[in-house]
Amino acid sequence: MASVRVRFAPSPTGFFHIGSARTALFNWLYARHTGGTFVLRIEDTDKERNSEQFLNVIYDSLEWLGLNWDEGPKVGGEFGPYRQSERSHVYREYLEKLLASGRAYEKDGAIWFRLLGERYETYDDHRKKTVEKVRNAPAVIEDRIRGRVERTEDEDFVIFRSDGNPVFHFVNVVDDITMRITHVVRGEDHLSNTSKHVELFKAFGAPLPEFAHIPLILKQHGPGKMSKRDQGALIEEYQRRGYLPEALVNFLCLLGWNPKDDREKMPIEEVIARFDLPGVNQSNARFDDKKLAHMNMTYLLELPADRFVEKARVFFEQQNVFANGRPDDAYFREVVLLAQPKIKGIEELPAYTAWFFDDAFPIDEKVAAKLAAKGDPKARVREVADALATVDFADETATQAAIQTLADAHGRGFGDYQAPVRLALSGTNVGPSLTGILRVLGRERSLARMRRFASGG
Ligand code: GLU
Repeated sequence: MASVRVRFAPSPTGFFHIGSARTALFNWLYARHTGGTFVLRIEDTDKERNSEQFLNVIYDSLEWLGLNWDEGPKVGGEFGPYRQSERSHVYREYLEKLLASGRAYEKDGAIWFRLLGERYETYDDHRKKTVEKVRNAPAVIEDRIRGRVERTEDEDFVIFRSDGNPVFHFVNVVDDITMRITHVVRGEDHLSNTSKHVELFKAFGAPLPEFAHIPLILKQHGPGKMSKRDQGALIEEYQRRGYLPEALVNFLCLLGWNPKDDREKMPIEEVIARFDLPGVNQSNARFDDKKLAHMNMTYLLELPADRFVEKARVFFEQQNVFANGRPDDAYFREVVLLAQPKIKGIEELPAYTAWFFDDAFPIDEKVAAKLAAKGDPKARVREVADALATVDFADETATQAAIQTLADAHGRGFGDYQAPVRLALSGTNVGPSLTGILRVLGRERSLARMRRFASGG
């Protein structure tokens, strides 16, 4: 069998969204699974609606997701150019073929594709006029996901508009032929176009590719397909929020495909090994932002320290968190690593760690009032500061033991000390473990904050 050639064929008419990313991913997976070729083709014939900005968003998003293309813009290839706006000579040449064989004709300034079959006139209620119809054999599509689909075209259709620009169906098919595409894997919204495409393939005497139409992604809430305007639809947004691309890719793999056991987190190599088109679900998949956030958290937890710190650094920089001076690198590293198991996403880091970097943090008055009702938090903090005077703060077992000994001596529990000290060190009662905080803040900072709190400041 000829080796697989698939393509992702976006139109740069808007931001890159979840549905496009999943179509790109499934093509990429199929190419990698079969050892085939993944082609990127830019369908930018609609000059009014395309923009360079959106084109760059497509490249950036694919690169960020790790969906590298083997042929296409930037990397070139044997069947280029890969932008339709640079292929008018190819479309002219293919139009000539249809004109020569009588399968294309001019009418009212546009160029039409002629269907074979017997013609008759009938009154169209909808358009309120008499139209010409064609009795035509149905196009039979053995869709690799949907199974057998039959559709009949019964009217000639325009392939070149009167302004001289070719129509989507025409360029799409000509490119699939000239780029030797073997499998057309795309969104189900294109299923209804496929019968036109089949007619065109046949008119050119070209072999039909295999078709595989991927079910839609439904909105998280309510009926209907997810659109670019829906919350969480844009890939850029996840990039900006510091999501891990491998988590997003894993999530997208499961939107419409599953490994038949209940596994969720899967290394991409394993998905590649197991992915196949008949394994794609026929039913629509529903978007679920909680599942995505959870997937991201699972990946974050397991991220090697160096990569986690690097992600955090980039995110803090993007958010301009340290406008008044950057902290020491080693300190930054310890702080974010302490937070790593506690956060759900990188975007939570700046708020979660703010008090590590700024002594002027606010005190949560509600927490303070609660503690005051149970005892004297200042006195507890003073006692801990004294008890830790000779203890090594880097040794969590030692600080833990010192506070426990103190608590035992006064017939109190560890918690009676933990909560006030946390408040003194961070202004709140949520965060990493107390001994972790003491270790990372270090002796000097910790004691200074405790003394300030104990003396009422
Ligand atoms: N440019 C089309 C789109 O954006 C591609 C259709 C196809 O993959 O054949 O949906």
